[in-house]
Amino acid sequence: MDTYEPHIYELSQPGKHGTNLPRMDVPESELPTDLLRHDGMNDFPELTEPEVIRHYTRISQRNVSVDTTFYPLGSCTMKWSSRLNEEVARYAGFAAAHPLQDAVDSQGALRLIYELQGYLGEIAGFSDVSLQPAAGAHGEFAGILAFRAYHLDRGDHDRIEVLVPTAAHGTNPATAAMTGLKVIEVKGHACGGVDLDDLRAKVSPRTAGMMLTNPNTLGLFENQILEVCEIVHAAGGLMYGDGANFNAILGIAKPGELGFDFMHYNLHKTFSTPHGGGGPGSGAVGCTEELAPFLPGPRVRAVHKADASATADPGQQITGAETSPLQYELFTPAKSIGRMKSFHGNFGMLVRAWTYIRTLGEEGLREVSEIAVLNANYVRVRLKEIYPQAVERICMHETVLKGQIAGAPKDIRTLDIAKRLIDYGFHPPTIYFPLIVAEALMIEPTETEGKRTLDTFIEAMRQIAREAVETPELLHAAPTTAPVRRLDEVRAARQPILRYDREAISRVRAE
Ligand SMILES: *Cc1c(COP(=O)(O)O)cnc(C)c1O
Repeated sequence: MDTYEPHIYELSQPGKHGTNLPRMDVPESELPTDLLRHDGMNDFPELTEPEVIRHYTRISQRNVSVDTTFYPLGSCTMKWSSRLNEEVARYAGFAAAHPLQDAVDSQGALRLIYELQGYLGEIAGFSDVSLQPAAGAHGEFAGILAFRAYHLDRGDHDRIEVLVPTAAHGTNPATAAMTGLKVIEVKGHACGGVDLDDLRAKVSPRTAGMMLTNPNTLGLFENQILEVCEIVHAAGGLMYGDGANFNAILGIAKPGELGFDFMHYNLHKTFSTPHGGGGPGSGAVGCTEELAPFLPGPRVRAVHKADASATADPGQQITGAETSPLQYELFTPAKSIGRMKSFHGNFGMLVRAWTYIRTLGEEGLREVSEIAVLNANYVRVRLKEIYPQAVERICMHETVLKGQIAGAPKDIRTLDIAKRLIDYGFHPPTIYFPLIVAEALMIEPTETEGKRTLDTFIEAMRQIAREAVETPELLHAAPTTAPVRRLDEVRAARQPILRYDREAISRVRAE
């Protein structure tokens, strides 16, 4: 049974209230009846202030987050979101800026956008960046639209196919399909990379481009990346980099130099901005000079005050600090695919990512990836005897294991292991992704966790493996310590009850 907590509607008692209005010192007067609202007014709960505050505080404490728990959700890079980022994002000049303010009055905010474009370009090896898209998937959409626009601009009308490896994240084929292009699957190789023979067989004059994640969704570096890019380019196609796993290679490898033409950065993954329950994210995109005219706008450029017609060298962006004679202005690239988002993207997230990059600097960013990779390998080595590794290789920032425990009953599945982890106080890893791995458990510890946390997690995973053999019923029953027990996840997604509905709730409880 779930712990039953009365809803505020059930706590309501007529006559209770949480405000004390001062005694009226003006003559009473009636509001015109046509201005009075009649519908939906008869079912407001009546409560005292402590009852309301306790209700909402209790609900807020049910939130699982990186503030409360180790959160090794593979592919999502649930790293710590530093409080310094929050402080800077709350500076009045940023937080209270109005997006319709004149550029002259918004120089600080525009400069931050300009500098972040430059930093991201430098880190990934791209000449141009747009901060418009609001998520990785949104960045993918921008990229494939830009590919299509690029080909059409050259009179190349037949490129309507997008190559996507079988290991790809679901957003990749979804993006290609949404742009109206055709998805062509490319097989994986047993060693975890793209099968080059299959790739050669599938590229053609119809190839608009290929979407690839590197390191891939098995947490493995695509060793043949140069060959992959060469094959696609030789066929006239473009390379799209899914930057979701960028946390593994910061300061070590630049996708632009590996042969990618366009890439998204998930600022809410690699650059520590909060994921926030599906809230504001940022999927900034970077690309080569050739594709820059097609980027979504507006972007920000810098012009010298003395000579407003000459634009600054984008290569100088990274030095930022002393370039006071520069003036920042918005512009939209010549052949832009258009706007992806209102105003300047999710500006608050841009401030946080800028702060993160400035806090760490060049060496700090490299260290991020080194420790992220070290942490993932530590977990991998200490667990792989019990949870078999999908592909026996050194991993990058995450490792894909399998929930197939020797000696456990056949009906113990990865889902049971994940649910049992909740009882041990951990957010479960990603499960059943990538789709090509049976019973996948994708663990991404990130660099912001220390050895003690990793050891506690590893010990919990080992203990669960022992339970799976000796007391499997504990795994089937899990979670037992969470506010709600195992949910019917399909039904919760398809028929959610999103607001208080007494009848619906009692119907569900009665079942
Ligand atoms: C997270 C992720 C995406 C999508 O990014 P969003 O920001 O969630 O839209 C795409 N590909 C991979 C591999 C991912 O992990």
